[in-house]
Amino acid sequence: MAGSEAPDKITPLRPKRPCPECGKPSARAFYPFCSRRCKDIDLNRWLSGAYAIPGPPIEEDEDGRSSE
Ligand SMILES: [Zn+2]
Repeated sequence: MAGSEAPDKITPLRPKRPCPECGKPSARAFYPFCSRRCKDIDLNRWLSGAYAIPGPPIEEDEDGRSSE
């Protein structure tokens, strides 16, 4: 055995954490979230808790409405 170099030179990056919103792997750009959307969700939640400001219109869901 020549050379006892172990492949441990690579500094382990911090373990990937799942997105706190949806559980998907987090993205670097939106850490610790997976996407800007989830980041906004969290931000909006925080904002709505601190300030009661009207947010931008999100996709409207007509689910839950009983028609006729
Ligand atoms: Zn997410």
